[in-house]
Amino acid sequence: MMAQYLEIKGQYPGALLFYRMGDFYELFFDDAVAASEALDIALTKRGKHLDQDIAMCGVPVHSAEGYLLTLIRKGFRVAVCEQMEDPAEAKKRGSKSVVRREVVRLVTPGTLTEESLLEARRHNYLAAYAEVRDEAALAWVDISTGAFHVMPIAPVRLGPELARLMPSEVVVSEAKEADLAETVTESGASLTALARSAFDSGSAEKRLKALFDVGALDAFGAFGRAELSAMGAIVEWLEITQKGKLPILRAPVREGAARVMQIDAATRANLELTRSLSGRRQGSLLAAIDRTVTAGGARLLERRLSSPSRVLEVARERHDAVQFALEQGRIAGDLREALRRVPDLDRALSRLGLERGGPRDLTAVRNALTQAEAIAGSLSDVELPALLAGAVGDLQGHGELLDLLDRALVAEPPLLARDGGFIAEGFDDELDECRRLRDEGRGVIAGMQEEYQRETGIQSLKIKHNNVLGYFVEVTATHAEKMHGNDAFKHRQTTANQVRFTTVPLSEMETKILNAGGRAIEIEKRLYSSLSAAILDVSDRLFATARALAELDLAVALADLARGENWCRPKVDDSRALVIEGGRHPVVEQALKSEGEPFIANDCSLGTAEDIWLLTGPNMAGKSTFLRQNALIAVLAQMGSFVPARAAYVGMVSQLFSRVGASDDLARGRSTFMVEMVETAAILNQADDHALVILDEIGRGTATYDGLSIAWATLEHLHDVNGCRALFATHYHEMTGLSAKLERVENATVAVKEWEGDVIFLHEVRKGAADRSYGVQVAKLAGLPAAVVARAKVVLEALEKGEREGGNAKKALIDDLPLFAATPVQAPAPVVKESAIEAMLETIHPDEMTPREALQALYELKEAL
Ligand code: ADP
Repeated sequence: MMAQYLEIKGQYPGALLFYRMGDFYELFFDDAVAASEALDIALTKRGKHLDQDIAMCGVPVHSAEGYLLTLIRKGFRVAVCEQMEDPAEAKKRGSKSVVRREVVRLVTPGTLTEESLLEARRHNYLAAYAEVRDEAALAWVDISTGAFHVMPIAPVRLGPELARLMPSEVVVSEAKEADLAETVTESGASLTALARSAFDSGSAEKRLKALFDVGALDAFGAFGRAELSAMGAIVEWLEITQKGKLPILRAPVREGAARVMQIDAATRANLELTRSLSGRRQGSLLAAIDRTVTAGGARLLERRLSSPSRVLEVARERHDAVQFALEQGRIAGDLREALRRVPDLDRALSRLGLERGGPRDLTAVRNALTQAEAIAGSLSDVELPALLAGAVGDLQGHGELLDLLDRALVAEPPLLARDGGFIAEGFDDELDECRRLRDEGRGVIAGMQEEYQRETGIQSLKIKHNNVLGYFVEVTATHAEKMHGNDAFKHRQTTANQVRFTTVPLSEMETKILNAGGRAIEIEKRLYSSLSAAILDVSDRLFATARALAELDLAVALADLARGENWCRPKVDDSRALVIEGGRHPVVEQALKSEGEPFIANDCSLGTAEDIWLLTGPNMAGKSTFLRQNALIAVLAQMGSFVPARAAYVGMVSQLFSRVGASDDLARGRSTFMVEMVETAAILNQADDHALVILDEIGRGTATYDGLSIAWATLEHLHDVNGCRALFATHYHEMTGLSAKLERVENATVAVKEWEGDVIFLHEVRKGAADRSYGVQVAKLAGLPAAVVARAKVVLEALEKGEREGGNAKKALIDDLPLFAATPVQAPAPVVKESAIEAMLETIHPDEMTPREALQALYELKEAL
């Protein structure tokens, strides 16, 4: 057995081998050590290999999925090795013979299909990146839904595209592994390197043609060499991991970079589109706006939000759909109720396709189609906008399949096909008969007993069962003579008081009963396969239906959001406008709402009179919030949603950039300032005139004058060269002078009020420049010790005075600053009692009072009022 183990293990050096032994998957040697640690399970020993103890651990087969998930999450790959024959068969070959075993599947992060291992509301992408001469391409597939995409990209765009798609695994050629490792791992994906041959574009073409059963791939698009190579590598890796059993893949769809808003990784992270800065869904824009009721709808929403459209018609069509659902509240409400009952059709199909499905996947298809037909029926007389009309068209035409499934399946089937019991009564005569025999076996036998009693006239005749004889007829010894005379009864046994017989019909009945259960299950398995095949035959149309259901769900969900949160339909066109009235930040607004605080809506107007707003104002005033909310509004408008504003006019944004000065990025080992500058450079080099740029405190990562100069030059470049729309927040008040010099720059500030030495944040954005930064006041609010606040005020005054009197004077002043705070801060003075009542309260110690004393004290207090 060890020889077999080592041979198989040798083929999967990079994976843990789950070696099936009866009811367990066992792991040996280093695999066992690694797994026992990762899974926190006991490590034991078994036998010796080359005189060393063999380390071993195991997980029960019935609970293996959970362990698999933990291992995959921890970055392992797992090769699942099964027993391919009954141990009895191996024995037949000889006593030393080992059960035949084979790896049936290599489990990797990008190739999961189990419901329990996947997040229902998220895609799980496997991607491949290929370069052929000077072309490059990225292909990606979600094998749990069959979606297959490809796009040509520039090599520098790999990082941003991975940030958009968030694949869990990326396949690259071993030749490129070293170059790409950093980019891939930074995106959070696990890297898989394949042999160069897997990326050969010639064999890729052949492989794809065979896979899609077409003579030429032209029907799907004219793919370049790099695209073919990337797609071919994906198919190769699927063949390796699924051991030749390919999942259903839909025809590849080419995604054009020109059709979606370009958003790079830093911008996505910074705007917290689908993940918050902490990496979780909670706190992201996605979590704040997701009101979908189906898993497919949730996945579509994430896809849309990650890839806002740049195509005007697409955005408008989606707005039409949302508007329809908003205006037709009753229809939308009914639709939503129907959608709530829609199971995850995509994933059920993909499991059936991989032969990893069960009866519940069949009923999932039935239930989804039932709802789909009902929805289509309820909307048949309604005039729908184009997008929804198209979707409703895709819901229909499954009558035959639905009828078949309806007749074939019970309402609530068991999980596993091998348990049987999922085929409805009346669907298959033979099955019904088997079940009748199985279930009514005892009744049938009882019937035979009566028949024999009648036939022989022996009222005490019984039919009994034991393990030796099976079913037999038993009479007392006194009646034996009568029985011996009857040829139908064959004598089997005589005991002290009884004589036992069998009959041919009884033996036949016995075989039938014993076999009936097993046969029923066999028949059900056969029917399962044929139903599964009937479904897979039309998988293309079923995927279209799944997509249509998701589309309807999303439209209704976005309408619900727009109604609930009071959002408006944005006007979109190809201009360069970003004109927003009463805009809000959806995530901050929701957070404030839960604390009972109002969100102050603000206007923004770019691309018409001015292109750039230079925003000043103290920390905590709401600058970052304002910057981000405008970017989010553009993203929402272009993904096809209504937006959090009173009115919004968005000229389609081609690229979105968002940077925050000196964010900590120590993990990457670059100085924070370096990161900031690298990112700023990327913007200045790339932004075109339809871009939208959000810069928050750029330059703050270095010394004041350096920072100011960089911020200054950056703003000039954006204005003169890029000619894009930009919101630029800064604490360098010196820059506000630029608006006089640069025609398309306007100053804006977030208003604050000063009151008794404190600042009050109004969160109102107004035209004009902030007078000062109120840093000291904000520090005081933050709870800096009073001594430090007082000292800071002194330093500030000195510095400001120095500023007015020129550089040298300033230096002298700093040198002159008294070493200790001008007004020494003492320990807090005893609090002066403001009223007699307070003084009285001070002397009361409730813990030491009796109830009577407490009542007395209360009277006295009342009197003192
Ligand atoms: P800044 O970037 O100016 O330091 P932020 O944008 O981080 O300020 O905002 C600070 C806090 O002020 C936010 O966490 C939020 O609670 C609150 N805030 C910001 N904008 C608004 C607004 N428009 N209405 C209400 N509260 C706001």
